Amino acid sequence: MKHFLLATCATILLVGCANEASDTPKEATKAEQPAVTPEVQKLIETAKNGSHAYDIVESLTTEIGPRLAGTDAEARARDWAVAKFKEIGLENVRVQPFTIPGWERGEETASIVAPYAQQLYITSLGGSVATPSGGITAPIAFFPTFEDLEAAPAGGLDGKIVFISGRMEKAPDGAGYGPANRKRRSGATEAAKRGAVAVVIRSVGTDSHRFPHTGQMRYAEDTPKIPIAALSAPDADQLERVLSRGEKVTIKMTLTPRVTGDRPSGNIIGEIIGSESPEEIVLISGHLDSWDLGTGAIDDGAGIGISAGASQVILEAGLKPKRTIRVVAFGAEEVGLLGGFAYVDANRAELDNHVLATESDFGATAPYEVQSGVSAGEDVLKQIADATGLPMSDVRTNGGPDIGPMSREGVPTMRFQQDGTDYFDLHHTPDDTLDKIKPEDMATNAAAFAVMAWMASEADTNFRDTSDSASTE
Ligand code: ZN
Ligand code: ZN
Repeated sequence: MKHFLLATCATILLVGCANEASDTPKEATKAEQPAVTPEVQKLIETAKNGSHAYDIVESLTTEIGPRLAGTDAEARARDWAVAKFKEIGLENVRVQPFTIPGWERGEETASIVAPYAQQLYITSLGGSVATPSGGITAPIAFFPTFEDLEAAPAGGLDGKIVFISGRMEKAPDGAGYGPANRKRRSGATEAAKRGAVAVVIRSVGTDSHRFPHTGQMRYAEDTPKIPIAALSAPDADQLERVLSRGEKVTIKMTLTPRVTGDRPSGNIIGEIIGSESPEEIVLISGHLDSWDLGTGAIDDGAGIGISAGASQVILEAGLKPKRTIRVVAFGAEEVGLLGGFAYVDANRAELDNHVLATESDFGATAPYEVQSGVSAGEDVLKQIADATGLPMSDVRTNGGPDIGPMSREGVPTMRFQQDGTDYFDLHHTPDDTLDKIKPEDMATNAAAFAVMAWMASEADTNFRDTSDSASTE
């Protein structure tokens, strides 16, 4: 139902609003500040009648595929993005380089050794150290949730492989991800503190398929680094059932990832230069890197398609924005928002000129509401919401993962909240592939991004509350 919204709006535009406009005196129309101007109507039609965003994610996933941060594949993706941005017609196309700590996956196998020998499907978490070459064979210490492990006393897990279960709740806004993700981020540290030799977690995901979900983990400086991997949901179920028999359970796991040292990454930037205030920037974005298991279609080829596709829609519609519309394809998001932080470092001098910023990084489904992260100009966001047929949410946003670092520096943000009910079925698995993306949903998203970028570039606000001294330190 949700992706009717823009179609309905476009229909109203084509039938109702156009007739109304011809009958209404110019002054009255202006006074009412209608959200749906002829330019907005043209953007929606151009997006809806084309496949700009879909064609871009199709190209990226077909011609590059998986593009793990810091690898040669991510470097090929940067070359692809530079060429694509130029092909679209963006100006000032450039790479903003930075260096990241490299990591690459190796072999990954696991099995229950006793009491019921069976293979398990696992994947190494990003950043994990390897097991010894012959693998680790050890008894399981089971924790139903990460909080149970946190509550466990010091010591007591010597020589054990810790298994942390805990199920993630499905929700349209992905609210279950944060809580479920704690074991992925910090499971190895908490287990190592208590003497464990390795960790397996139930995948952070909402599906019941036999694909484990990868994702970045972190080590604390002051605890031993132990290997950590994710089990597919059915394998976590299996292990829980075996444990429920009350016998001692032993598993064997072998992981051979390796650290590859300093590796290049980079953000790709392209612009539609503003006709009146070129120094003022409306930023739309996605992240170019992906995990290595799938082809990074929903995470986040879709965001690259939506943001770059929206800029293409504006250019194709022949519109000349007053402010600069900047498209950014962030590098190395998956391994710690490194592109987002590098962007802030490299662009610090012009952050005050960033009028509004957003990122698409929640798949390819249509949006269902508009979230605000501005301190002024909320009425313009409301007009953007009206023009795209969406309600305003009272949930505050920081604009998306890579926008977070600039949001903390005071850059105003907004976000089209997409329906992510099924996003975590696919997220960070081999199943993240192009066939999961509907072209019509991509067109809806591109229309929304194009309308937002256009209206923000034309608006008479910089979305900042300048009435107090807090914003001008
Ligand atoms: Zn992402
Ligand atoms: Zn991701």
